[in-house]
Amino acid sequence: MKTIKKDLVIIGGGPAGLAAAVSARKKGLSDILLIERDKILGGILNQCIHDGFGLHTFKEALTGPEYAQRFIDEFHGLGIEAMPETIVLSLDKEKTLTVSSKKGFVKIKANAVILAMGCRERTAGAISLPGTRPAGVYTAGAAQNFVNLQNIMIGKRIVILGSGDIGLIMARRMTLEGAKVEAVFELLPTPSGLARNVQQCLNDYGIPLFLSTSVFELHGKDRLTGVTVAKVDEKFQMIPETKRLVPCDTLLLSVGLIPENELSLGAGVRLEPATSGASVDDRFMTNIPGVFSCGNVLHVHDLVDHVSEEAALVGQSAAAYLLDRTESAAAIPVVTKEDIRYVLPQKISGKTDVTLSLRVTRPMRNASVLVADGDRKIARKKLVRLHPAEMIRIKVKAKHIENAEKLEVSVQC
Ligand SMILES: Cc1cc2nc3c(=O)[nH]c(=O)nc-3n(C[C@H](O)[C@H](O)[C@H](O)COP(=O)(O)OP(=O)(O)OC[C@H]3O[C@@H](n4cnc5c(N)ncnc54)[C@H](O)[C@@H]3O)c2cc1C
Repeated sequence: MKTIKKDLVIIGGGPAGLAAAVSARKKGLSDILLIERDKILGGILNQCIHDGFGLHTFKEALTGPEYAQRFIDEFHGLGIEAMPETIVLSLDKEKTLTVSSKKGFVKIKANAVILAMGCRERTAGAISLPGTRPAGVYTAGAAQNFVNLQNIMIGKRIVILGSGDIGLIMARRMTLEGAKVEAVFELLPTPSGLARNVQQCLNDYGIPLFLSTSVFELHGKDRLTGVTVAKVDEKFQMIPETKRLVPCDTLLLSVGLIPENELSLGAGVRLEPATSGASVDDRFMTNIPGVFSCGNVLHVHDLVDHVSEEAALVGQSAAAYLLDRTESAAAIPVVTKEDIRYVLPQKISGKTDVTLSLRVTRPMRNASVLVADGDRKIARKKLVRLHPAEMIRIKVKAKHIENAEKLEVSVQC
């Protein structure tokens, strides 16, 4: 098998991979290769044809493809090499990749690798949905792909399980395409998606949202004919007397995303249980020197603008690692306390300013996110509304953390 050598290889041509490539090139790195399994660059944004992307980055409401195109144009303008229609099959800890391309199998030896593989959706099997297995059950993303990219209408009478953003967006999309969306059912007592999506995709179209309610059985032999739904108690157990049948021909699942970390695991990258993504330092380097991670494969983001911003930092870090040969100096752990589900990066050097990204465990109002080193308060961010669906970012200045022993992140109500 042919082996080629590259300074930096980026796996994934979505918004994370593109932004990382552009910033690494702007930092002076010349030998960059971006590998993408799809025919075109842009990642999952290519199927997100609604607008609302780029409000932070470009101060404009763009569609997903428009947002992606700005980075694709910049990527090509900088003359960066891309290898589309090529899938990375394996990565080892020496940073050797095996890829399958149209020309056959190739080995690539990289000096640094950026993991930017995005995430995939949880399926009916992943949530053990009981009942028959008729046609008409799709993940919301698969439905988005059929309707938006392949012009295939997938059903007329729709039920959506899960109020994640993709499900909410598909509720509106299916309505605009002429289907009747019966309802969205959500197991949790609060919506999982952004508040703006609940308003713009459900309330504005009169689509009901039933909280603390789930689907307990699928009906139908060849095609779905209905689902049994019921309310759940605080332990998420079905309340039998609330069971009812909702006739429908299509069920869309919007029940969570899983970072695509199979390659990372193969290379020995340490993953965090709370994010299912890599454990990284403040340069987004994993436990394997020269292997970096960003975007949805690192942690599931709600806004693509944050993906691009994070990935640009990762591109700079990878360029600095290769050009200056700097090793990780991160020794200060960053840990979560009450009401914080995860925080990232998990280790910092204290030598540079750092933005911590975190999510809370439950909805809260009028509370502060506090970063402290023992009794010493380092940063505080007051928020009117805190919700697990909305990633919180808090900046910490290097001058406040250079001598820190451990950063603890908590919520104070
Ligand atoms: C179905 C779906 C719909 C979404 N809809 C919205 C939305 O409407 N609004 C919104 O703000 N956000 C949405 N998101 C979130 C969105 O994914 C992120 O904001 C952003 O696209 C993440 O960028 P990324 O580059 O990390 O991942 P992606 O955009 O997923 O890009 C990852 C890329 O890596 C490639 N790849 C993966 N593995 C390999 C491999 N082994 N070899 C080669 N290439 C590989 C993939 O083909 C893909 O192109 C959606 C996510 C999903 C999964």
